[in-house]
Amino acid sequence: MMIIMKPSATPQDVERVIEKIKSVGLAVHLSQGVETTIIGAIGETHSLPTDTFEVMEGVETVQRITQPFKLASRQFHPENSIFPLDGFTVGGDELALVAGPCSVESRSQILETAHAVKEAGANALRGGVFKPRTSPYAFQGLGEEGLELLAEARQQTGLPIVVEIMSQVQLDLMVEYVDVLQIGARNMQNFNLLRVIGETQTPVLLKRGLSATIEELLMAAEYILAGGNKQVMLCERGIRTFETATRNTTDINAIPVLKSLTHLPVILDPSHSTGHFDYVAAIARAAVAAGADGLIVEVHPDPAHALSDGRQSLKPEKFAAMVRQVGQIAEVMGRRLATVKIPAHG
Ligand code: PEP
Ligand code: MN
Repeated sequence: MMIIMKPSATPQDVERVIEKIKSVGLAVHLSQGVETTIIGAIGETHSLPTDTFEVMEGVETVQRITQPFKLASRQFHPENSIFPLDGFTVGGDELALVAGPCSVESRSQILETAHAVKEAGANALRGGVFKPRTSPYAFQGLGEEGLELLAEARQQTGLPIVVEIMSQVQLDLMVEYVDVLQIGARNMQNFNLLRVIGETQTPVLLKRGLSATIEELLMAAEYILAGGNKQVMLCERGIRTFETATRNTTDINAIPVLKSLTHLPVILDPSHSTGHFDYVAAIARAAVAAGADGLIVEVHPDPAHALSDGRQSLKPEKFAAMVRQVGQIAEVMGRRLATVKIPAHG
């Protein structure tokens, strides 16, 4: 339930509504926009009459949130959520460009990649250290050593780091090192993990599950938001369909659908959604044209020898070319690359 306050409502009016919500056993979520203050009463509200609040001083109107995801819904929070992230913002005019290898493999590999993606215009560095591999015999990631290498790359380049967390036992270690916690497709509905991450204040990149609906993705985000962590970015990374020509099928529809249903930023991963380096730039361009708030792209200096996802990784020069292209599309869309100066040709 949303209690929308009058522009003339006083802080005391707001406080009285908050107290009332708490007194009936509901959680309070305050959204203070430029024009309006909306107070969310979250929980079992269906039997609570709206006039409980309608009669109160300073209350303009009371509305029920009809969608099952409450805090994630645009009904509750009409303005886009914009999160600051070390030198740039996600969800506003700037395009987030997260790039880096699938896995951190060695010091030279991550440092070389970090400098190259920064030079090309990326504003955040990705790199997995705990890898959710289909085979238990495949490379599983460097663990803490990988985090130390990422921290060194951050220190050298200034790029914030985005790293996947696979289990709550990694949480203390991860929050010590990372700027953004990535929740992978395979863990999108690991509700225990979502809950513990909801209790942190570390920004989150939540990837859509391999066969999750858009509503299920938003309900997963709701777990994190309900815990008090508001900085959730959603990531479309392709879904399973009958098509086998590509690793997954990019659900481009998800971008405008999510942008209309939720205020949370929407990022597209053209690497996992296509599974092949040759298709990555095309889908990155399509995503920006469709209104995505950013991209997360796998880049490797030597894809042929990558320990994971080499086939879908761009060489740094291909990534740089992709950035130039999406930069032009971003301009058409009224957005801009956060840090990059677009060279005249190339
Ligand atoms: C990754 O980002 O390397 C990854 C494993 O992605 P996803 O969870 O989308 O498969
Ligand atoms: Mn990968």
